[in-house]
Amino acid sequence: MKKILVLEDEANIRSFVVINLRRSGFEPIEAETGEMALEKLRVNPDICLALLDVMLPDIDGFEVCRRIRATGSKMGIIMLTAKSQEIDKVTGLMTGADDYVTKPFSPAELTARVDALIRRLGIDEDERSSTELVSGPFLLNTRNRTLEKDGQRLKLTQIEYLLMKLFMENPGKAMSREDILTAVWGNDFKGELKTVDVNIRRLRIKIESDPTEPEYLTTVWGYGYKWGY
Ligand code: CA
Repeated sequence: MKKILVLEDEANIRSFVVINLRRSGFEPIEAETGEMALEKLRVNPDICLALLDVMLPDIDGFEVCRRIRATGSKMGIIMLTAKSQEIDKVTGLMTGADDYVTKPFSPAELTARVDALIRRLGIDEDERSSTELVSGPFLLNTRNRTLEKDGQRLKLTQIEYLLMKLFMENPGKAMSREDILTAVWGNDFKGELKTVDVNIRRLRIKIESDPTEPEYLTTVWGYGYKWGY
């Protein structure tokens, strides 16, 4: 059973959340103060997700969130914010929370958010099971997001890493600039296709012996690019 930390100082809200999580098949771990939450996390390293109330008697939920992230933990974090605290949502997401739920919330809403986040985390778990992509002299480690060529570490920006991952996962496949833009920058990105070319050019400088005669990341004229190796 997946363990979920429930940090909430108000006993009635806490038990409401706990009951509903249990009903959905989770194992809730309760805490009523920030310090207690951190202690529970220390003794339960297998907690996969935390629900953090913001207003607490000791340290606030944002600080708890910050401290969890400071340990390098990638666990799912959902902030429980009070109604109309718009600023809380922004602060929460900036301190490393994945999502927020506004009080008062229904059991269905809470479970939906938890399930959605678990699914997202599940994708990460799949990634972890295959942490290395190999192609020719290249070794891409998707866990620590590093690239080596002939055993030498190449320093990549996050965008360059995502480009490498996309190409190495699709060897020999011609990919249009549109596809690349969507895959790497996301659906919401309103940038130009030129962005793709600029970043490919920079990436080639790092990975190709001769960037003007690319051997691996080749151009598909009038269309896009291909991992040609
Ligand atoms: Ca509270």
